[in-house]
Amino acid sequence: MEPHTNAPLVTPLVPVPLQRPQLQSQPAAGHITSTAERGSFCLAVCSCGWTGPARRSRDLARKDASRHTTG
Ligand SMILES: [Zn+2]
Repeated sequence: MEPHTNAPLVTPLVPVPLQRPQLQSQPAAGHITSTAERGSFCLAVCSCGWTGPARRSRDLARKDASRHTTG
């Protein structure tokens, strides 16, 4: 934390309009994929809960993940 001695203590109080009340609990922020290892296999996992098939190589799991995100 650096002390800001010359920083103006003016915070703009702009009212934020509630554009869309998100009542749905779907992850609309996109799919964040990663790979997980299970034993000697590797599979792609996504933040939406999707998991790809178990692959022998991590490269194939990454391809599954990219195919999932691109549709
Ligand atoms: Zn996903």
